[in-house]
Amino acid sequence: MKNKLTEKLTRWLYGRYGTDELNMAILVLALVISLIAGIVGFPLLSCVSLGLLIFVNYRAFSKNIAKRAAENKAWRNATVVPRRTFKAIRMGWKDHDHAYRLCPKCHQICRIPKGKGRIEVHCPSCKEGFEVKS
Ligand SMILES: [Zn+2]
Repeated sequence: MKNKLTEKLTRWLYGRYGTDELNMAILVLALVISLIAGIVGFPLLSCVSLGLLIFVNYRAFSKNIAKRAAENKAWRNATVVPRRTFKAIRMGWKDHDHAYRLCPKCHQICRIPKGKGRIEVHCPSCKEGFEVKS
């Protein structure tokens, strides 16, 4: 009985997209809106949150993997600067001998020695030169 149910569920889930960064961001947004709706007591916000949760499930169980992956790629491209900025800040917390800055051209994280004053740095990825305070 259990094996048959597991087999059916496995067969139904086969070829589905699953979850990704965009789905997680929409899920967090839905939870924040739901919290605000609970605090403010505005039922329309709960409907918006529910709609977002339905959209998250639609994306996760979608069989159009190419389209969902393209949406996620567009999301990742749109959020590259804040994601890498936070990553550079986190890397700076762990490494006290270096500063981490984003290349203004390609947004690659560049490691810079600390305590050298204002220096010109060349991005290892795109070779763009830019001045930073280390
Ligand atoms: Zn660069």
